Amino acid sequence: AKHAGRGRAMHYEALMDDDRDLRREMEEALRAAVARGEIDVVYQPIVRARGRDICGVEALARWTRDGQPVPPDVFIPLAEATGIIDALGPLILKRACEAARQWPDLGISINVSPAQFRNPYFPDQALAIISEAGIDPARITLEITEGYFIQNPGRAKLVMDRLKAGGVRIALDDFGAGFSSIGYLIRFGFDRMKIDRSLTMAGQQSIKGGAMLQATVALAASFDMPVTAEGVETAEQAAFLHLCGCDQLQGYFYGRPMSEKAICDLIAPPAAS
Ligand code: C2E
Ligand code: CA
Ligand code: CA
Ligand code: CA
Repeated sequence: AKHAGRGRAMHYEALMDDDRDLRREMEEALRAAVARGEIDVVYQPIVRARGRDICGVEALARWTRDGQPVPPDVFIPLAEATGIIDALGPLILKRACEAARQWPDLGISINVSPAQFRNPYFPDQALAIISEAGIDPARITLEITEGYFIQNPGRAKLVMDRLKAGGVRIALDDFGAGFSSIGYLIRFGFDRMKIDRSLTMAGQQSIKGGAMLQATVALAASFDMPVTAEGVETAEQAAFLHLCGCDQLQGYFYGRPMSEKAICDLIAPPAAS
């Protein structure tokens, strides 16, 4: 760009400005949507590997902007970068706890971003929301990725222990998607590990992938970390993951993320007319 003509450099800068403006606009739209409570939460079934009956759901946030869905992979990072997560996180947790009241037999998993974990008020605030909703904290699993545990292990461990003392469970999310060292992560005492979809896929694609998956699940289990496999899309994957020792399965094969109402129908099917 340095050697480009003056006109071109200006054009480039104008583009950058456009980008910034678009981001700004999206930030303001998200801030307004969160303030008005216009964020939806959908629920994806989680089944027991043995029996394939539903035992829980994972809450996933949804935002529709001017009739267009914005993927969580876009608006969650935006919320984290702008502080909007401080309002969005509690909103999602509250919604999910209220929904969970209708499903006393199901566990409920809720994603927590590193930015929330970093907030010193987070553990007390989260425990208060759960208690106000009248949900047994033992039914709640907070899912967190390894990033903050690697960056700031001391602080992360303190927050985790405070939450666990309050009775909620903590799952290590997206295992196998990053550069995770299971040997390092095991010492934190996560209650559960969630195998990322990429590892679920790798497990079926080659002998080595299969061996890696098997060894990972076995090691986790030997440290009392039961394993949920994510991104299960076929019966073959389900059978292999069960064989490896995963006790819970989640993926499109069992159900896509769905509305609160759809989960109610799933666990108590409406009588046929
Ligand atoms: P995640 O926590 O790993 O959630 C699983 C994602 O995989 C979801 O995408 C889900 O719809 C998708 N998925 C589930 N089963 C399958 C499958 O069989 N095949 C495929 N291809 N995909 C499957 P989603 O809802 O788009 O969420 C993406 C990510 O955004 C989540 O990944 C999570 O990191 C983040 N996210 C979503 N909702 C929240 C939230 O409420 N709070 C926070 N902090 N993050 C959230
Ligand atoms: Ca998750
Ligand atoms: Ca995940
Ligand atoms: Ca993910």
